[in-house]
Amino acid sequence: MAIYLVLIGLPGAGKGTQAVILSKERGLTHVSSGDLFRDNIKRQTELGKQVEAILKSGALVPDDVTIAMVRDRLMQPDCQKGAVLDGFPRTPAQAEALNKMLGELGGRVNLVPYVKVRDDVLVERLSGRWTCQTCQTVYHEKFNPPKVAGVCDKDGGELTQRPDDKAETVKTRIAEYMKNTAPLIEHYRTQGLLVEINGEQEIEKVTAELLAAVAKVS
Ligand code: ADP
Ligand code: AMP
Ligand code: ZN
Repeated sequence: MAIYLVLIGLPGAGKGTQAVILSKERGLTHVSSGDLFRDNIKRQTELGKQVEAILKSGALVPDDVTIAMVRDRLMQPDCQKGAVLDGFPRTPAQAEALNKMLGELGGRVNLVPYVKVRDDVLVERLSGRWTCQTCQTVYHEKFNPPKVAGVCDKDGGELTQRPDDKAETVKTRIAEYMKNTAPLIEHYRTQGLLVEINGEQEIEKVTAELLAAVAKVS
């Protein structure tokens, strides 16, 4: 049966890192709203042009735009087998829309792993983050370095830094999270879907905790 996982956590908590591993381990599709926006910006689509300045500022893209984009993605055939959602939903309205979409697919949110870290580790994590332009694998120059600087271990793709990872913008992103996204934690806890994961351990240990939690629901 298809399972749908929603990763929640502050920017830099490790959602993308874990989503790549988890989707591979469990045969699920990784759906990152941030990656979808960045891909549109890179290709300079209408959507990309519309959201470029918003991403640069660290603010959230309006719900209607975000929901339509994620909906399109989830309705594609590779999401029928289930997905790891990373960065969506980020507002109560998005959470409601997600329930509807998954209902149409005959599924539901099966588990919401909340990757918990103290906010004082975030700036260091994000300022050292390097992402593969080809496969979206995430590295850290200190905590998880690639074998060759600037080059993806998996496919030789180019690693780049995100313009919104500078300290100034990170502050805005954390504030957006506190205001809009943090309320989702209690929302999903009430529904019995939330599981807290200690995101301050080394990457392999975080993965082990996540896989154990997912195994209980599937
Ligand atoms: P998010 O998707 O939640 O914003 P990422 O997965 O991109 O976070 O991780 C942010 C940065 O922190 C990346 O550079 C990543 O390599 C690094 N990182 C992720 N998990 C850990 C961890 N458990 N310990 C140390 N660094 C980590
Ligand atoms: P992320 O890659 O998850 O860190 O997201 C990068 C940026 O994309 C955010 O700072 C927002 O501007 C935008 N974004 C990503 N996901 C969403 C979402 N679910 N709702 C609104 N904006 C989003
Ligand atoms: Zn790569």
